[in-house]
Amino acid sequence: MNLRYNVEADWLLLKTCNFRCSYCFFPPITLGAKLAVHGSNSQWAEGFDATSKTWLLHITGGEPSIYPGFVELCELLTRNHYLSVNSNLSDRSIDDFAERIDPERVHFINAPVHLDGRQKRSSVDVFIKCVHKLQRYRFNVLVSMIMTPEAIVTFPEDMKYFASHGLHIIPKVMRGEYQGNRYPSAYSDSQKNFITKCLGEAQRKYAPVLTSMREPPTINMFTDDDLLNNPPDYQGKVCGSGYNFVRIDPDGTVIRCGSEERLGNILLRNMRLLQSPKRCNTYYCPYFCKKYTSLSAETPSEGHPDTRAKPEDMFLAAKLIMKGYKIVYQSHAVIYHSHTIL
Ligand code: SF4
Ligand code: SF4
Repeated sequence: MNLRYNVEADWLLLKTCNFRCSYCFFPPITLGAKLAVHGSNSQWAEGFDATSKTWLLHITGGEPSIYPGFVELCELLTRNHYLSVNSNLSDRSIDDFAERIDPERVHFINAPVHLDGRQKRSSVDVFIKCVHKLQRYRFNVLVSMIMTPEAIVTFPEDMKYFASHGLHIIPKVMRGEYQGNRYPSAYSDSQKNFITKCLGEAQRKYAPVLTSMREPPTINMFTDDDLLNNPPDYQGKVCGSGYNFVRIDPDGTVIRCGSEERLGNILLRNMRLLQSPKRCNTYYCPYFCKKYTSLSAETPSEGHPDTRAKPEDMFLAAKLIMKGYKIVYQSHAVIYHSHTIL
């Protein structure tokens, strides 16, 4: 896979979802709202083409696979752009997606196992079958699970079950309010240690997938242990948000991540990106913060090492992981940079 893009977007295609996970960022009323379609599939694709940029579109929701004409939308977008997709894989459109979409245009599919929405084992088996099909069609699938306190308890059993089907689960650190507690700070030390240990295991299991992806996934759950202790503060750092990264809302509005700074609208074809990266004065998803503050780090001055991530570091790290080494990440790097081998 050879990703070549100018701008990445965290594209909230819809807020509606067919699941009701207890830890979801959205309240049930939003998840159950009537699905809103703001543009036809060709209007979306033509809108992105009209920007004269090549996009890496991270399509998320809600649940993207229930969006009307989801596969056709992906087909049109992947003619000129790249995708990554967040999906619970519950809709039958994913079957069609596997057959019709070019895997070379899809960086990865993040497929969380939401046990809240899949209480019956048969439903978990349908999910597993779907992952197998996507893998057969050469998609990079990252199977993850949100580490609620309940999930931590059942995780060893769940991991065993998935492993018996050739799959591995990446533990994803929970962020935000859950049952009256604020995560990740509400994790106990033993829960943190457990998650860190399982993350190390997931890094090893996914090393071949990461190698085939060539560039680390933006939603890089493999570095979630960074979030467990002293999560990094990005305020004041130079960041590409608004310049080579944006958030897109369901109606096509382009926004500088968590700020109110609007940069136009894809459907109205009036987007204007910033002329250069600028300092962070807002909050957003730590995965994007990490990537776009690292990529936009000031040019190193003479005598100081360049701490920006380089693709070759990732390849080296992936090879070492396959050989059983543990990689320690530095908080300022995208991934695998300035690593220490233990
Ligand atoms: S599947 Fe995702 S969007 Fe849907 S309820 Fe669960 S966490 Fe929320
Ligand atoms: S660091 Fe995060 S919150 Fe700050 S500007 Fe960048 S993406 Fe936005």
